[in-house]
Amino acid sequence: MKKFVAGLLVLTIAAYASLEHIVPIVFSRVLVQRLGTDAAETLPDGLHVGLCGAGSPLPDPERSPPCTLVIAGSKMFLFDVGSSTNIGGMGFNTGNVDGIFLTHFHSDHIGDLGEVMMQRWVAGSHEQPLAVYGPQGVDQVVSGFNQAYALDSAYRTAHHGEDIAPTSGKGGRAIVFQATAETLTPVFTEGNITISAFNVAHSPVEPAVGYLVTYKGRSVAISGDTTAASSIFTHAKGTDLLVHEAMSMELVELAEKSARKAGQKTLEKIFFDIRDYHAAPEDIARNAEEAGIGFIAFTHIVPMLPLPGMEQVFLGASEDLFSGEIVVGKDGDFFSLLPGTDEIDTTNLL
Ligand SMILES: [Zn+2]
Ligand SMILES: [Zn+2]
Repeated sequence: MKKFVAGLLVLTIAAYASLEHIVPIVFSRVLVQRLGTDAAETLPDGLHVGLCGAGSPLPDPERSPPCTLVIAGSKMFLFDVGSSTNIGGMGFNTGNVDGIFLTHFHSDHIGDLGEVMMQRWVAGSHEQPLAVYGPQGVDQVVSGFNQAYALDSAYRTAHHGEDIAPTSGKGGRAIVFQATAETLTPVFTEGNITISAFNVAHSPVEPAVGYLVTYKGRSVAISGDTTAASSIFTHAKGTDLLVHEAMSMELVELAEKSARKAGQKTLEKIFFDIRDYHAAPEDIARNAEEAGIGFIAFTHIVPMLPLPGMEQVFLGASEDLFSGEIVVGKDGDFFSLLPGTDEIDTTNLL
């Protein structure tokens, strides 16, 4: 028995010793593989939509703050930048971001703007600042981030040189547009890509906009933050995919009551307030059905859904009200809409 234990000990030590040598080799191979590939390069031509953040400002282990990635042909755009870490995690190169479209300026939608502008600049050695589109106020937000990152931008150029971090390309440049609820305002057109904006209902946050992206006959509408009584259902009639924010009013009301019982007055007030400027899944499902929308991906999920069965409580009767498919979004969810079909392929890239 003693011999057996001693033998086992020797084997264990040998395994650990060799692990020390093996792990760096495996790590290096994984790195070469990861750094040499960009998920965007392997995608077929089409309209692809990824949830780089399917959450809200509230903590949720499955969902980071809001971020929707859209690849249309060879272009890659971000709609809101609450999270930048999942972009790399999903296999995409932040250096290739061609533009950012902000829906409004709540902190959960802009929190990683500085990081994305920095990473896109250095990773892509860009000579022009990143275009950041948004309604009135976007210039103030972009210039604030530019200022906050000014010192670091100088360090990067000093450290890596003008070839890697050219001074002319740092930060972002704001492109301000004025949208209305009644009409679609085109804000970006290039080749087969059209991106239009429209005002949504997120008062007292004004302006707040949603976007419609079309590419080669396929389309996605992105709601931003809004109640269900917004113009998106007029502008997104017949859209293939609706990426819509969603809040369970019942679960948030429960959270309000729990906060009251726990003596958390601030949280109690917040859980009460937020219910008047977000949208309930069933209302979205009903409106989307009337608008002839094909597929709903709920995002900006509030509250978190950590227990088995909570997703069903969150959805309520949504699936009975909507004849298409509904997904309760999680970070990494990815939807591919290829031209010439009406299919939507779904996967998760995390
Ligand atoms: Zn939000
Ligand atoms: Zn908001």
